[in-house]
Amino acid sequence: ITGWGLIGASNIASSYMIDAIRAQEGHEVVSVLSSDALRGQAFAAEHSIEHAAESLADLLNNPQVHAVYISTTNELHFKQAIQAAQAGKHVLCEKPLALDIQQAKDMVAECEKHGVVLATNHHLRNSALLATAKSCLQSGIIGKVQNVRVFHAVALPAKLKTWRLTSNNGGGVVLDITVHDADTLAYLLDEYPSEVTALTDQASRAAGVEDAVMMIWNYNSGIMAQVHEGFKTGHSQTGIEILGEKGTLIGTNCLTQEPIGELVLQQRNDDGELTRKTLDIPHRNLYIEGTRRFVEAMNGEGTPAATGEDGVRSLTVALSVKQALESRCVERVIL
Ligand code: NDP
Repeated sequence: ITGWGLIGASNIASSYMIDAIRAQEGHEVVSVLSSDALRGQAFAAEHSIEHAAESLADLLNNPQVHAVYISTTNELHFKQAIQAAQAGKHVLCEKPLALDIQQAKDMVAECEKHGVVLATNHHLRNSALLATAKSCLQSGIIGKVQNVRVFHAVALPAKLKTWRLTSNNGGGVVLDITVHDADTLAYLLDEYPSEVTALTDQASRAAGVEDAVMMIWNYNSGIMAQVHEGFKTGHSQTGIEILGEKGTLIGTNCLTQEPIGELVLQQRNDDGELTRKTLDIPHRNLYIEGTRRFVEAMNGEGTPAATGEDGVRSLTVALSVKQALESRCVERVIL
């Protein structure tokens, strides 16, 4: 059996990742670490996990643990990943990898040094809908991409209205969602923005942490993207529109954790009329697929859906956006 240790008794582990690990043949969650011993024990009991570790060292010293899944608050990922790598454990780490670029790069280097896999849990790379959109782009059906519009403003469920809404622990919508959007667009366009600008609203400025942000990103290829993210927009759906010279791809309800959403190809015919074709999507569980790719990489077969380097790059974009929020200027993204 290949054992996993959970570093962090988190909601994402409860809701998605324990099941995703157990969906891999021969894989089991054998230990969990919480900063609170009683919470750790309760979490272990609730999820039938054999062992609640007393400390990170306790979890990492467990010979049954071959890989760790890190889903603590964002400021903790760095130290925990470094220690896991030094203990020879493969690391599937939540986004953002860290709070600064050097830390994220050190995580990549340390995992490389110890011969363990590092992956970033950018789950949207595993979306069948976005994979279909990528195939469409590669086929040339919409021609050269001109613009992208990203609608990623959501409402936080009550149980997640905790550290994300404070400036401690790496909170704020940029570290939470901008990293995903930068990665998703890199996956679709094979490119990262070269410059970004961003504004947040007055309430966020007063609170000192952003819970809404609107951005414009420029790409060297000429693409310009408009990206809207937030935590307090309850009556909307996520989506993405990719506008090309010969057509537009419209993804609706597709920047989510669930294997759902609709993808439409919209084009004008020779008479100037808009035609809309809904594309078939072979939906699949995003977290199971991401974990499958990670397990393959652990077995020396292929690379994770999003590598550690991908996590460094998505963080670089997010931190450039943070800088733009501060400076209220256009910031260059230096990858
Ligand atoms: P949570 O708030 O659920 O978990 C973070 C930490 O908070 C846990 O490790 C835990 O600490 C503590 N905690 C959680 N629930 C409780 C509770 N009921 N009472 C007391 N403490 C609690 O955060 P998320 O699961 O939303 O996020 C964790 C990480 O995963 C973040 O890095 C986030 O960015 C990422 N994430 C990624 C997603 C993706 O799709 N890729 C989706 C959601 C989150 P302890 O372990 O010490 O008990």
